[in-house]
Formats: sequence, C-alpha cells, structure tokens
Amino acid sequence: MDIVNLALRRNLFFPSAEIYGGAAGLWDYGPIGLKIVDNVRTFWRKYAVENNNYTEISGSCILPKIVFEASGHLSSLNDPIIKCTKCGSVERADKLVAKLAGTELGESADTKEFDKIIANKKIVCEKCKGKFGKAEKFNLMFPLSLGATGKELGYLRGEACQNIFLAFSRMYKTKNCLPLGIAQAGRAFRNEIAPRNALIRVREMEQMDVEIFFNPKKDDYKVDEKRKLPILFKNGTFKEVTIKELKDKKLILHNVISAHLLQEYDMLLAMGFKKDKIRFREVDENDRAFYSAFTFDTEVETSLGWVEITANNYRTDHDLSRHGKFSKQNLSVKEEGEEKEFTPHIYETSKGLGRTVYCLIDQNLTEINGKVVLTLNPGISPYDCAVYPLVNKDGIDGVAEELNKDLKSCGFNVLYEDKGSVGKRYAKSDEIGVRYAITVDYDSLKDKAVTLRDSWTTKQDRIKIKDLKDKLFELKYKQ
Ligand SMILES: [Zn+2]
Repeated sequence: MDIVNLALRRNLFFPSAEIYGGAAGLWDYGPIGLKIVDNVRTFWRKYAVENNNYTEISGSCILPKIVFEASGHLSSLNDPIIKCTKCGSVERADKLVAKLAGTELGESADTKEFDKIIANKKIVCEKCKGKFGKAEKFNLMFPLSLGATGKELGYLRGEACQNIFLAFSRMYKTKNCLPLGIAQAGRAFRNEIAPRNALIRVREMEQMDVEIFFNPKKDDYKVDEKRKLPILFKNGTFKEVTIKELKDKKLILHNVISAHLLQEYDMLLAMGFKKDKIRFREVDENDRAFYSAFTFDTEVETSLGWVEITANNYRTDHDLSRHGKFSKQNLSVKEEGEEKEFTPHIYETSKGLGRTVYCLIDQNLTEINGKVVLTLNPGISPYDCAVYPLVNKDGIDGVAEELNKDLKSCGFNVLYEDKGSVGKRYAKSDEIGVRYAITVDYDSLKDKAVTLRDSWTTKQDRIKIKDLKDKLFELKYKQ
C-alpha cells in the first residue's frame, strides 16, 4: 500500500515548503504524524532509557567546528560521488557500481576502486550517456557561521550523540561509576546526495540514541545466553542463533552488547513490528560507520525492502579519546577496585525516529473486510479512541461532547469529530490507527449506552457510558 499517499491524505507528513514545490529530503509532520512520532519517542524513552535507569539530555544542534574535527566527521562523514562530465548530474558511486556493475564495494571503499570498475565496465551516465569524472569523497556536514565576524565556524551536528560524549564527564560526576547510560532524542543533519523514500533518507532527521559508557574489562550485564536473535551474517546466511553462539564466534565481545541487542529486539516487538520481519545484519567493515569496531544494524522488512532503523555500534574508546585529546581535558575515569585510570568504552544504539515511524506504518497498514486499517498498538496509536455523535442535533451532540470532555479529563487521548457521515469518520479513524470508535446514537439517550467499535475485528459492543472508562483503561493497558 502507498504510504506517502496515505500520509498526504491524512496529514501524517508532507514535504517541507510544499507550496514552493517542496525540498528534497525535508519533511514536515502533520497533526496525526506528530502524535505517532511523539508516541514512538515516548515508547523508546520508557523502554530503552527509564527501564534501564539511564539518564537523558537534550543538546544543541549547532556545535563549534572543533567538535567535528575531533569526532572525525569533517574528514570521514563522506559519501563517494561521481559527476557526469557532460550533464553535470551527481551520483553516489557505490550505488552506481552496485546497480550497473553488480559490485558491492561499500561506501567507505577507496575512490580508485570505483574509478577502476567504472572504466572496466565502461559505465556511462544513464541520463546523457556522457563520461564520468573521477570519483571523489563528498562531506555530508552542513557548515555555518556563528555570529557576525565570519571567523567562528560551526556545523549542524551530523550525528546527535556528540553532545552526549561532550557531557560525559559532567554526567559521570553525578553517579561516579560505570556502566553509565546517557540518552538523547534530537535532530541531526546530513547533506545527503540523493534523499529518497520519504522519511527513510532525509537531510534533517531525529535520532534516538543511547550511549552506554562501560569498562571493557568488567561485565556487569546479566543476560540469558540461551535466547536467540535473527542474524543475517555478512556471508549472506540468515539464522536464528543464541547469544552464546555469537559470543563463542567472537561476534559479541561484551554482555553490554548482548543485553542491548536483546532489549532492542523485545522493544521492536512490543512496538508492533512483526517477528518474521526483523533481523540484525552483521555489517561488513567497508559499510560500517568510521567510528565503529563492530556493528549490527537492526533491519525491518517493508514494501521498500529491508530498511535499517537502528545502528548498534561498538564505538570503543574512539570518541572519548579524541575529545579528550582535542579539548585537552582528562575524560578518563578511576573506578573503585581499578588500579589505573582508563578511558571508558562506548556501546551505542542509534535509532532513526522518522524511519521507525515509517516502517511501523508500513508493516501495520493492512486491509480488513475491504477497508484500509492501520493496526497500531495502544501506546503508539495517535488516539486511544474516537467519539462520534451519530448526528449533530437532538441532544445526541450534547451527550457526545460531555463524554468527550469526561474521557479527556481522565487522561484519555480522544479524537472528537461531529461532521460528515459516520462511515467516513470510521474510515478516517481506521486509516490513522485509532482502534476504538465510540458512537453516540438515538438509543444512547434512553439506554445511557454507546456503541464501541473495534476496527481490527469490526466487532461492535454496546457499553453503558458509566462502564466506558474502565473498559477503555482495560483495552489500553491490560493486553
Ligand atoms: Zn550525464
């Protein structure tokens, strides 16, 4: 099913600057999309941050140049590109050779490798048949000038988590021991060469990051090593394997990694992703981010194919060592029982919020009895229920309005609409992921009851108004 079509029709999301024709890779959320996005973020916060007793910060999106010199983004957050000498069109070199020569080089391969393949396979511009120039690296960071002197340079952060590394020593002082988990949900910016697939590849995104600072010589995490994860190995085989097998194969070096991979899997299932449509992909060295010594991408299957929604990176001591060196601050710690100071290692789970929302909608958009229904779980759904007066007169509207106010005052998130046919209103709530619709009709005036319709089963129940709150509470929390 066409998600962008649904998104535009129901105001989930739409192109930024739409009246000017939009801008590639920039999207705005509408009222319904915003509610789903907020709910996914809250779900993540409860599951991945609060349940682990981790803390959360919210950092500035603009940071001085030196931060990204230290982090390596200015020299290494690059994509290989290639320009047509005739029409000037620019392509991602890795995507081009994968598509036209069937060679998977990875985005961090040497530019000469791309030139070789393009020459050997006589690859020319698809648009004008012109010859390509030499492959080069294009930096994805957005530079800007701070203040009026033009001398102070800053950048929009290409990766939200840098603020967490910069705040580490301040946050460590409040707890004084490892492991220390610090989270952040915030915007990041990348000048993508070819933004595409709506919220999947964008130039401005929100990342939900958890960075766990730990002592590599100490294992504080207890995990059930018999539990299995669905893994796509880099040799192409797919298998469900136990944590123990992954550890025996030295693919997992520390239980901080096993514990968080299992938690990631459980969280996605609880969010509403389908069990047979989640996998962890072992990422080859040439495709890993430059700071990572080990990566398992979480991928979910959608109508666009498998899409990465989370990078699970073992960043080692790369970040704190570099920031320590560039800032001339001591970012190492001295833990109780340890003889010497050491630089903590970092394990990271970094999730794209827009991607997660897009893929969750994709996996849950379905047809029930010939009608489009978005089957979002409670907690993710934009509204707990909808309240519809059958008609907007004869006292029915008054009962419905009162019910609407009463439910809202008890904390329920209610969609109230009194215009249009009930059929059209049902169609709307079905499509935006509101599972329960409550209709107030003429009988309600006599029997003090309403119809509760479940869009997943299309079953309708007659419920006394006085029992409605308990019923909704049960449906929301006791599943
Ligand atoms: Zn061309």
